Amino acid sequence: MDSSFSIQGKIAIVTGAGSGIGRGIAEVLANNGAKVVVVDIDETSAKRTVEQIRRAGNISSPIAADVSNWVDMQKVAAAVIKEYNRIDILCENAGIYPPAKIIEMSEEQWDKVIDVNLKGCFLGLKSCLPQMLKQNYGRVIMTSSITGYRTGEIGLSHYSASKAGIIGFMRSAALEVAKNNITINAIEPGTISTEGTRRFAAGELKPLEDRTPTGRLSTPEDIGNAVLFLASDLAPNITGQTIVVDGGYSIVE
Ligand code: NAD
Repeated sequence: MDSSFSIQGKIAIVTGAGSGIGRGIAEVLANNGAKVVVVDIDETSAKRTVEQIRRAGNISSPIAADVSNWVDMQKVAAAVIKEYNRIDILCENAGIYPPAKIIEMSEEQWDKVIDVNLKGCFLGLKSCLPQMLKQNYGRVIMTSSITGYRTGEIGLSHYSASKAGIIGFMRSAALEVAKNNITINAIEPGTISTEGTRRFAAGELKPLEDRTPTGRLSTPEDIGNAVLFLASDLAPNITGQTIVVDGGYSIVE
C-alpha cells in the first residue's frame, strides 16, 4: 500500500470554513492537493476563504448552508456530487459557543447550541454517507473540543454537552461504517486563537497562553495538520478516536 500524507485530488467538504479553525483546515487540505468545498452559514466569509485558497493556486468552491438544517445539508451533498462526483473527506467543524450560565440560559439558547454543534454533525454525516458507502471510501473528521469531554467551563454547559456528545456520536457512527473503508474520528482542540475565541475572551487570551505547557495556543493550522493526518492514507485503520491538540493544556494537574 502506498503510505503517504498525500490527499492529492481528494474532494473535501469543510463546514464552518468561513473563518477560524475551519478556514485553517480548508487551507491545509487545499495546500496538500484536495479540492475543498467551503461550507458556511455566512456566504461572504465562505467566499473569502475560497478566494484565499484560489490565490494560493488551489481549487475550491463555496456553498452557503446551515449545518443544523437537513434541507441545506442535502443540497450541499448533492451539489458536491454534481460538481465533483465524489465526497472523500468530510470535516464537520461548524460550531458556536455563546456563553450563558444555566440559571440564565433559555431553552432556545440550549437548543440552538445543540442543534448547530451536535445535530449538525449528524445531519452532515447523514447527507454524505450514501455517497461514501457507494464509493466504499470516506474520511470523516469532527471538531469536538477538550471542553466537555475532558474539561469544563462556566457558561459553556450547553457547549460542553454538545462537544462530549460529538465524541459519543462519532464512536458509534464509526462502528456502523467500519467495514466500508470509512473512518470517523474527532479532533479535540484546546483554545485556539480565532475570530470566535477573541470575541469570546474579549482579548484575554494571554493568561491561557501562559498556562499552556508548550507556551503557546494552538493555531488553526495545527488543527488542520491533525485533520490532514486522519484524512490521509497514513491513517486508514484509525477510527472512532480523538486527537487532542492543546499544547498539553489538559494534562496539567
Ligand atoms: P469561528 O466563530 O471563528 O468560526 C465558526 C464558523 O462557523 C463561522 O464562519 C460561522 O459563520 C460558521 N457557522 C456558525 N454556525 C453555522 C451553521 N449553523 N452552519 C454553518 N456554518 C456555521 O469559530 P472557531 O473558533 O473557528 O471554531 C470552529 C469549531 O472549533 C467549532 O466547532 C468550535 O466549537 C471548535 N472549537 C474551537 C476552539 C477554539 O478555541 N477556537 C476550541 C475547541 C473547539
